[in-house]
Amino acid sequence: MRIVFIGPPGVGKGTQAARMAKHLGIVHLSTGDMLRQAAADQTPAGLESRQYVNAGKLVPDEIMVALVSDRLARDDCRTGYLLDGFPRTLGQAMALDELLARRCPPLSAVIELQADVDELSRRLAGRGREDDRPEVIRERLDHYVRQTAPITDYYRRQGRLYVLDGGGTPDEVFARIRERIDQIAPR
Ligand code: AMP
Repeated sequence: MRIVFIGPPGVGKGTQAARMAKHLGIVHLSTGDMLRQAAADQTPAGLESRQYVNAGKLVPDEIMVALVSDRLARDDCRTGYLLDGFPRTLGQAMALDELLARRCPPLSAVIELQADVDELSRRLAGRGREDDRPEVIRERLDHYVRQTAPITDYYRRQGRLYVLDGGGTPDEVFARIRERIDQIAPR
């Protein structure tokens, strides 16, 4: 299966993505984690993107598409993958489709997790990551609404979008996602 998870910061996307990838036996590709690792390793992409990440801004599409393209070319992605945090812009969504058209089958499903803004701010404030400071949180939520939310229309038109409620306990959300994925691709 080739799945994309999208959702605003704080919706629990990372936690759910890691758990679902394990459940499905596919690799979990979090572009946020990839960027944090690249920054820690001081690679050129990591150093260049650090300023954007720390300010809560989106890293430019060219850097992100190159990073994901390289990662998807690795052997462990052949049986499937779960992309968490990519694509985040329409440009990235279109670049991903082009990439897949050249190399492998299209996406199986795009799962969007939703939650209300008060709930998101509350969850983020409790996390304590470098980019979880209040002013950076506002910036990240704003980028989500302006740049990432529009890609849901793109995937809806392709008939690949499934919108799910991200509210409730982590177990409840996981069960909700699993049920939907089982309907899309019974195993
Ligand atoms: P995340 O861990 O998914 O919340 O990502 C943390 C930060 O990494 C984001 O606030 C962005 O600065 C950057 N980032 C992660 N994925 C992307 C992406 N697909 N496009 C642009 N920036 C990204």
